Amino acid sequence: MYQTWDELEAACMGCQKCGLCSGRTNLVFGVGNKKAKILFIGEGPGEQEDLKGEPFVGRSGQLLDKMLDAVGLNRQKNIYIANIVKCRPPQNRDPLPEEQETCIGWLRNQVYLIRPKIIVCLGRIAAMKLIRPDFKITREHGVFTEKNGVWMMATLHPAALLRNPSSKPGAFEDFLKLREKIDELGIPLE
Ligand code: SF4
Repeated sequence: MYQTWDELEAACMGCQKCGLCSGRTNLVFGVGNKKAKILFIGEGPGEQEDLKGEPFVGRSGQLLDKMLDAVGLNRQKNIYIANIVKCRPPQNRDPLPEEQETCIGWLRNQVYLIRPKIIVCLGRIAAMKLIRPDFKITREHGVFTEKNGVWMMATLHPAALLRNPSSKPGAFEDFLKLREKIDELGIPLE
């Protein structure tokens, strides 16, 4: 494990451990407050994220920012956002299990440095990797479970909400439950 963010980021930026490195414009390491106690984790960069080198930009990122804002969260101030894989899968396909397994060490090191109190999985890929392989996002989103002292919850991926706007109210409920959990645990947001 790297013991500092600078060492970790420098090592990760040159990573060629899996084939996804060949298609990337930018590696997408993560964004946010590295002292935050709330960590959001998506599956991997899309086209806009690859071009910008930042997770959740473009339309799905704007929607995520709006939902965060509604419950007093902000990607620059009080959360950190990362992905299971750091390089864009071609044609935005799901990252393959072997790609996830190869890349997850970087995320584990990020979790080690942040020591989050809450992890929110954005979408089924992250939930299946981090909560349970048989996690069912449509049935189990918004439910908190404690794992190794960290409260974990999954919500629908913002891109899925854009494809299916009727799911937005349910996802917003998840964000309200998140805010309740933040307050219950006494996590400061400023
Ligand atoms: S996806 Fe992860 S493991 Fe694969 S090259 Fe990128 S950083 Fe390395």
